[in-house]
Amino acid sequence: MIIDLHCHTTLSDGKLTPRELVSHAMDNGVTTLSITDHDTVEAYDGLDTGRLHVIPGIELSSQWRNTGIHIVGLNIDLHSTALQEAIKRQKLARWKRAESIAGKLEKRGIMNTLEGAARIAGNDNIGRPHFARYLVESGTCKNTGDAFSRYLGTGKSGNVDKFWPELPEVVEWILSANGIAVLAHPLTYKLTRTKLSALVDDFINAGGRAMEVVSGKQLAKHTRDLAKICRQKNLLASCGSDFHQPEQSWADLGRFPPLPRECSPVWDYF
Ligand code: AMP
Ligand code: MN
Ligand code: MN
Ligand code: MN
Repeated sequence: MIIDLHCHTTLSDGKLTPRELVSHAMDNGVTTLSITDHDTVEAYDGLDTGRLHVIPGIELSSQWRNTGIHIVGLNIDLHSTALQEAIKRQKLARWKRAESIAGKLEKRGIMNTLEGAARIAGNDNIGRPHFARYLVESGTCKNTGDAFSRYLGTGKSGNVDKFWPELPEVVEWILSANGIAVLAHPLTYKLTRTKLSALVDDFINAGGRAMEVVSGKQLAKHTRDLAKICRQKNLLASCGSDFHQPEQSWADLGRFPPLPRECSPVWDYF
């Protein structure tokens, strides 16, 4: 069994359409997949998933103590009214944030980025990757990695998190849609151990039940660390590639290390 519970399509910032993603997953031998686009579930509209077992999912943006935190919702009811309302709010937040990002870039002398990013995003959920692609297209940055490290990444002026709802509210949306809330890629927030532990406690108090122990290719020591936190806090474990596009460096669909044996897998509760 190959289980991948975190990936993206063109409906957010991925490069494959939902159909192409399903077909790529089957080529890679994935047996269970959750498509977890940023703040949208449109990928599921009329999607033919064939023989692939698909778990309805989403990746929601939130903030906790001024840090942007991603929460994956798994096995959600796609038609939940609360979820649909939440998605509308997130869409608005994304546009407000995009205006704010453009304002920050303008202060640094880079003009018209909102128009550029919006054009690249088209109907898809606008995010920092669309700004990154525009910064490359307009010749300001040499590649998207460069755009994140200079302007859009953690700690840079173009990374704006204040428009996201607080973490407990986002967890509540997932619970309202009968889903399981999963703390996504816990090591990417660059928190100290004490802060990460406080985040996990707040997440659990809000109703969160699982954490990604494996996110893409990662060092074995990081996997062990996360498995330990999971055990200590009595959380279920999830895993996924966070796949966005075939040429990405961190992991292809379904291609990442296995969950440690001592973990209690989240899929036992679907
Ligand atoms: P957003 O949802 O608008 O906050 O954008 C977050 C997305 O940006 C992540 O899901 C990744 O796809 C992408 N991203 C974050 N950091 C980097 C980076 N350093 N290089 C390239 N893409 C990144
Ligand atoms: Mn993304
Ligand atoms: Mn994420
Ligand atoms: Mn993701």
